[in-house]
Amino acid sequence: MRLLIMGPPGVGKGTMAAYIKKTYNISHISTGELYREAIARMNSLGALAKGYLDRGELVPDAVTVDLVKETLKKSEYKEGFLLDGFPRTIPQAQALDDILEEKQWKIDVVLNLTADDETIIERITGRRICSNCGALYHTTNIKPAVDDICDNCGAALFQRLDDNRETVARRLKIYREQTEPLLEYYRRRGLLRDVDAEGTVADNIKEVEKALGGFNDND
Ligand code: AMP
Repeated sequence: MRLLIMGPPGVGKGTMAAYIKKTYNISHISTGELYREAIARMNSLGALAKGYLDRGELVPDAVTVDLVKETLKKSEYKEGFLLDGFPRTIPQAQALDDILEEKQWKIDVVLNLTADDETIIERITGRRICSNCGALYHTTNIKPAVDDICDNCGAALFQRLDDNRETVARRLKIYREQTEPLLEYYRRRGLLRDVDAEGTVADNIKEVEKALGGFNDND
């Protein structure tokens, strides 16, 4: 199964991606996560990307396309993947088409998570992440048992630098201008499935299941 998960920043793509990964035993690729790892490792990709991430701007298409192309060469993605945070622009979507065509792969479903701006801002500013295993939490919606400590591995939780009000506004604007037009690109091809992600995590999982109806990991 080859899936894309789309939607504005903070809508809950990461949380739903973690659910899909576990339930469908599918490899998850998050371009944002790949950039954050590169920044933490202080390698050349990280040095290039850091300013863009800090400002909430998109890393140039050529860099991101290259990153995805290299990542998809790994054997773990041969059987399928869930791509989260890519594509984010029309040129990225066209580049993805070329990469997939070369491999004779096709996308099965594009999930489009939606929620209103107020929900998104509340989710994004309350988001916390485990510094060790990457598990996602929220200060009110997905609270860990002990404040600021990961339930899974006991490591400290942190807040992303770009998860503040000002940067969120910029990220939402960029999403509306550059990423939203992609929805039409995939809708026209009959791949888009809308997911109402306004509810609780449990509600949203049900919506994702509905949208994925008919697909399983043998497809
Ligand atoms: P995310 O974790 O998906 O919210 O991504 C965090 C940040 O990583 C974004 O604000 C961008 O700076 C960068 N990024 C992630 N994916 C892409 C992409 N497909 N194109 C350009 N920049 C990206």
